[in-house]
Amino acid sequence: MRITLLGTGTSHGVPTIDCMINGFGGCPTGVCRRALADRSLRRTRTSALLEWPGASVLIDTSQDFYQQVFEWRVQRIDAVLYTHAHADHIYGLPDIRSYCRQQGDAIDVYGSQETMDVLRKAFDYVFQPPEFVGGGIPVLAPHTLDTPLPLLGSTVIPIPVEHGALNGCQGYRVGQVAYIPDVKRIPPASLELLQDLDLLVLNCLRLRWHASHLSLEESLAYVEDLAPRRCVLTHIAHDIDPEVHRHLLPEGVVFGYDGMVLEAE
Ligand SMILES: [Zn+2]
Ligand SMILES: [Zn+2]
Repeated sequence: MRITLLGTGTSHGVPTIDCMINGFGGCPTGVCRRALADRSLRRTRTSALLEWPGASVLIDTSQDFYQQVFEWRVQRIDAVLYTHAHADHIYGLPDIRSYCRQQGDAIDVYGSQETMDVLRKAFDYVFQPPEFVGGGIPVLAPHTLDTPLPLLGSTVIPIPVEHGALNGCQGYRVGQVAYIPDVKRIPPASLELLQDLDLLVLNCLRLRWHASHLSLEESLAYVEDLAPRRCVLTHIAHDIDPEVHRHLLPEGVVFGYDGMVLEAE
């Protein structure tokens, strides 16, 4: 399987608007100013593309989805899996309809009951029959996903996780790859679903504690417990400078970056 990290930033992105307004003086690492000139330091909002033979599956449609499809050349989308309904993960949803149009069919869209309820409300018009939205644009097909789903020759396993006060947040496992961009706590039943991983893509917001995201220390505790063969950290804030903080990572763990491509089982 091929995994492309389309975006690896937290909800504010890197550089942040706050740092720009403040002349970049208050940035904890200085990474925001340098990111203006260095694309490798910039982080658009978090999303990933999973590809295996006959399948191109998007996880989340980030606020930066439009930009990401051009930058990383997303040519086809067979299905979309949503982790949760926070703005940074869903606001690219309407652009999926271009893929519906070009592929000539509706695209299946999956998430927890709570996530799908928000999507239906926020993007009501997108889920209307084509004749009500200008005609001709095939609709998206929403589905609740809370048990393992056979999808395009593989199986998608939802991994329920706790993300602050939000209900219905989940990561996903496909084969020996798991993707969990937003999480504060992984319940024991979900830890059971994350054994024997080749690749874990896991939330790591920053070094300091946060109410609804894993700090680096908390992320690494899960990595030690789960012992995946490799771990890539994502959903990263401007508090982390990948050059400066690389030495804090054990072997087999790296900071992800926009456009990172991984091959896994
Ligand atoms: Zn997020
Ligand atoms: Zn900054």
